[in-house]
Amino acid sequence: MSLVITGTMAFDALETPFGKVDRIIGGSATYAAWAASAVYNNIKQVSIVGYDFPQEEFDLLAKRGVSFEGVEVKKDEKSFFWSGRYHADMNTRDTLVTDLNVLASFDPQLPESYQDCSYLMLGNLVPAVQQSVISQFKNRPKLIIMDTMNFWMEVAMDALKETMKMVDLIVLNDAEARQLTEEYSLVKAAQKIRAMGPKYVVIKKGEHGALLFHEDKVFSAPALPLEDVYDPTGAGDTFAGGFIGHIARADDFSFETMKTAVIMGSVMASFCVEKFGPERMKEITTEDIQGRLKQFKALCTFNDVLEVV
Ligand code: AMP
Repeated sequence: MSLVITGTMAFDALETPFGKVDRIIGGSATYAAWAASAVYNNIKQVSIVGYDFPQEEFDLLAKRGVSFEGVEVKKDEKSFFWSGRYHADMNTRDTLVTDLNVLASFDPQLPESYQDCSYLMLGNLVPAVQQSVISQFKNRPKLIIMDTMNFWMEVAMDALKETMKMVDLIVLNDAEARQLTEEYSLVKAAQKIRAMGPKYVVIKKGEHGALLFHEDKVFSAPALPLEDVYDPTGAGDTFAGGFIGHIARADDFSFETMKTAVIMGSVMASFCVEKFGPERMKEITTEDIQGRLKQFKALCTFNDVLEVV
């Protein structure tokens, strides 16, 4: 049994109120793999990079149980490049540059060794490529989750809607949920999104936590109130990686397990934002994760209300 993750492995240039960095490692699949591999260690990556992507990054993830047979290296092209600038509130940002480079002609070929996949995470990526990955599985994975971004709503909405019909769960942020449905209420937005295909919807609200919707059930998780947030880039992918990593580890996706997966995703995202790029994810230990899980528990626990009224 394995967890397959697809998405970008990229370079990013970022500007936040705390500083500016040029060409650091990024990409949706990179962040997701760092987060998922903190809790689960049979991960198979599907992506594409150019000649400029450092071997060292593969080696570091390989030590954590991530394999790269499904990652194509194009010797004569550059890796995907994205640049963004955050507003003062750090919850909103502008995309400055999206250079598709290798991504423009990405046609993933799923290796035979990936057919043991039970859980599939489609990280933020060209919607048609997300579909191609799903369709190459001889047996449908037990649970397919997807992430996306406003960029794909603007340039590939029809294909995005097709991908949504093929998945079980979609993770997106509040602005994306509103853009997709033209509903301000996130409850109504989630209803409309579920009517588009995914049975489960997770809406991330940045520093305000995340909501999980399924049938008539809702779960609300807080975000950890952090003193210092340096760089929110990749927090969404990290959340999704922690979420699916927890589900793969439990090998269960009941609503109760999904609730703890939302907390695990939130724990991972809380680490990610503490440094630029995926750097913080490289340092965290099991004890760090356990410590944060306890902090989350303390944040959400209170006495039975009936006792005090
Ligand atoms: P997040 O902050 O979770 O939305 O993820 C940011 C990461 O997604 C960055 O590291 C980028 O390299 C990557 N990214 C940005 N735009 C795209 C896009 N259009 N498709 C796929 N990945 C992207």
